[in-house]
Amino acid sequence: MGILKIKTTISKRTFDAVIVGAGGAGMRAALALSEAGLKVAVLSKVFPTRSHTVAAQGGIAAALGNVTPDNWRWHMYDTVKGSDYLGDQDAIEFMCRTAAEVVYELEHFGMPFDRLDDGKIYQRPFGGHMRDFGAALAQRACAVADRTGHALLHTLYQRNVRADTHFFVEWMALDLVRDEDGDVLGVTAMEIETGEVMLLEARATLFATGGAARIFAASTNAYINTGDGLGMAARAGIPLQDMEFFQFHPTGVYDAGVLISEGARGEGGYLVNKHGDRFMPNYAPTAQDLASRDVVSRAIATEIKEGRGCGPRGDHVLLKIDHLGEDVIRSRLPGARDIALKFAHIDPVREPIPVTPTAHYMMGGIPANYHGQVVVPQRGEPEEVVRGFYAVGECACVSVHGANRLGCNSLLDLLVFGREAARQIVEDLARNPHPKPLPNDAADRSLERLARLDARHDGESVAEVGDAMRRVMQTHCGVFRFPDLLAEGVHEIVAVAERVKNVVIRDKSKVFNTARVEALELDNLIEVAQATMHAAAAREESRGAHARDDFPHRDDDHWLKHSLYFSANRQLDYKPVRLKPMTVESFPPKERVY
Ligand SMILES: Cc1cc2nc3c(=O)[nH]c(=O)nc-3n(C[C@H](O)[C@H](O)[C@H](O)COP(=O)(O)OP(=O)(O)OC[C@H]3O[C@@H](n4cnc5c(N)ncnc54)[C@H](O)[C@@H]3O)c2cc1C
Repeated sequence: MGILKIKTTISKRTFDAVIVGAGGAGMRAALALSEAGLKVAVLSKVFPTRSHTVAAQGGIAAALGNVTPDNWRWHMYDTVKGSDYLGDQDAIEFMCRTAAEVVYELEHFGMPFDRLDDGKIYQRPFGGHMRDFGAALAQRACAVADRTGHALLHTLYQRNVRADTHFFVEWMALDLVRDEDGDVLGVTAMEIETGEVMLLEARATLFATGGAARIFAASTNAYINTGDGLGMAARAGIPLQDMEFFQFHPTGVYDAGVLISEGARGEGGYLVNKHGDRFMPNYAPTAQDLASRDVVSRAIATEIKEGRGCGPRGDHVLLKIDHLGEDVIRSRLPGARDIALKFAHIDPVREPIPVTPTAHYMMGGIPANYHGQVVVPQRGEPEEVVRGFYAVGECACVSVHGANRLGCNSLLDLLVFGREAARQIVEDLARNPHPKPLPNDAADRSLERLARLDARHDGESVAEVGDAMRRVMQTHCGVFRFPDLLAEGVHEIVAVAERVKNVVIRDKSKVFNTARVEALELDNLIEVAQATMHAAAAREESRGAHARDDFPHRDDDHWLKHSLYFSANRQLDYKPVRLKPMTVESFPPKERVY
């Protein structure tokens, strides 16, 4: 079967709002918009309930205080501290203050939370969740066993079906449509099965396209997490914020990358080195194995570097949960056990799990305010909202996670900002009842990209060039970052970007257009990879997930600021962190110990 041809005449559909992405963020926003009576389209590359949110294991953070006393101000403090003071404190206050409300809302939607004997929602300890401004551990993670994302996504999908949200399943958005004023008027998209291209016109376009940890060779992310929203935004002239900050999760299964939830340590599991010694107390005396993720990942990398790693190559450590007993593992960590059996070929009821830090979460993204509106800086002037354009979830940088995200704060982020962006869209659309005319060349960029791809016959395959990109990122931009490797990494990733321009679709026998989709995804991945490498090479300090060997300390005098990477000229700019919360006192930067 020959490769499907792209049609040159394209159809157009008009909606009030178009949402790209059917993970937790897209679906929470879609639900509120459909319930407000708007005509909403949601596009997804995969069936909605296969979005990466489905893989979230550990829980949703909210200071309900069901098990230990808790308070949203402690949650806020933990989040600010976890962010290594790079998070914007107004947005963090908004998120932590709203957390209980969005979790109860979810409960009323039918989310099957684990329960305590008194019927309240069960809450487990998690990394960096503390009481009394860091004094002792708190139990704040609301969970459905270790399959929280699965329950969340199905709950939201069913509510959306009920609310008549229109889903375009297995449609891939290709490019943003902007007019000469810079306003966003919709997207172009391709039906994956047929190759049909369509214009989706809308007065509000919301990106909820998820993360991009697939720029690394070892990643906990789904294969579809290719940073498409960031690629589309970057090609349309929108800068990407804080891209140097990628979180490495401490416990990816060795050699497979698949995640073992922090819930395993929340339930009492701990890490040991080749001598069988618990090492986390040496790095984080109070929180120990439940210190925040950047701290634990660096501790593991240090144990390995100093020769205390396990296995013949000494390149991983062990996560012990066998002492918890089979009953706890079966009831609270059934998914972790399945993953250990399938990917590490061991039963954690009896043996420890080999683990190593693995790329997991993108703290940076499309710059947005806490109403979900995309904001771009004007040189020397206040930020400006890009009219008609919104971003929420992992693809957005609000920034509530700053330089390092706390576990369970992402699912919370999806719910809080998904709902808030929808509220903002309803308000904005009421002021703006008529669509602006689409420019004549609205679909040209996408059609040209597709035509160029189809016309090329000689060149490297998508797989070869993709592998080169992932290897460069893994080697040059990992848990610890070295000056010579970063400098080389910048040259190498720019060279890979040149190769991306000439990839060919080799396997023309493939059905369902997957070869073409992978090539289009690589266009997006390489935007993310370049932003990450450039921003990492430029930031001369260590903060959160960004650990420089040559600048081992945080430098608030020079670097307490967000980076903005502009794809067109590969330049960086910076903007200040918002240190002032909405109603409470600010948490000034101080030394971060757990
Ligand atoms: C293994 C794992 C476990 C995790 N556990 C937790 C946890 O316990 N607690 C927590 O808070 N966080 C957790 N996280 C993080 C959290 O799950 C994610 O950050 C979050 O689910 C992302 O949600 P999202 O809605 O932004 O995107 P996703 O759920 O990734 O959805 C993205 C959507 O965008 C669509 N899409 C992308 N590109 C296009 C395109 N071009 N055209 C059309 N559609 C497109 C996809 O099809 C998909 O529907 C975990 C992450 C992983 C990987």
